[in-house]
Amino acid sequence: HPRGDGDARRRRTGIMGGTFDPVHHGHLVAASEAASRFDLDEVVFVPTGTQPFKEASRVAPAEHRYLMTVVATASNPDFTVSRVDIDRAGTTYTIDTLTDLTQQRPDEDLFFITGADALGQILSWKEAHRLFDLAHFIGVTRPGHVLDVGDLPGDRVSLLEVPAMAISSTACRERVASGQPVWYLVPDGVVQYISKHGLYQPDPQGGAS
Ligand code: ATP
Ligand code: MG
Repeated sequence: HPRGDGDARRRRTGIMGGTFDPVHHGHLVAASEAASRFDLDEVVFVPTGTQPFKEASRVAPAEHRYLMTVVATASNPDFTVSRVDIDRAGTTYTIDTLTDLTQQRPDEDLFFITGADALGQILSWKEAHRLFDLAHFIGVTRPGHVLDVGDLPGDRVSLLEVPAMAISSTACRERVASGQPVWYLVPDGVVQYISKHGLYQPDPQGGAS
């Protein structure tokens, strides 16, 4: 994409939705790789709202997840964080995320970055057919993994292999709860944020809360 002065190139914006409980280097590498490969000007991280039906008590409060994502992305001038999903009441649906961001950024082409596992289920998402009108979808796969996207519209979906990062938020939370380090799995500021706020400590009673 040439970017000469007279070039009316539309701004290209990646959207990285997630629970980010906590955000980790897998998310950041995926966003960086998508930006590089799809010539994105910006990647917007969008932490999900509180999910009333998804064992809400087991997910850190939205404000903590939002602030950890801000801390993690602060050093990258092309990474930003949006509050659209945490400020909207109720369950987060991708159709609502994309509708809100399209209204905020009418002159931009949106690229929704998502794990290939989630992409495989996309046809079951709320208003799935409309999703592809609002964004191009980038399905992030790990090297060696095969994903069948046969039922998805080929011109609106791309696959992107990112360097294998066996990091998940679940593993990070379990490590913190059992006293293992998360240094280098999450950005330094996120390690310190988790410690400062006492996140992901085991339940004192050891039972379900
Ligand atoms: P959890 O373990 O709680 O499910 P997670 O690590 O999958 O958390 P999410 O916030 O659910 O994190 O993920 C947000 C997005 O990032 C999803 O599209 C997910 O597929 C993708 N993703 C998660 N981990 C990685 C990783 N290691 N490499 C690339 N993409 C990832
Ligand atoms: Mg996940």
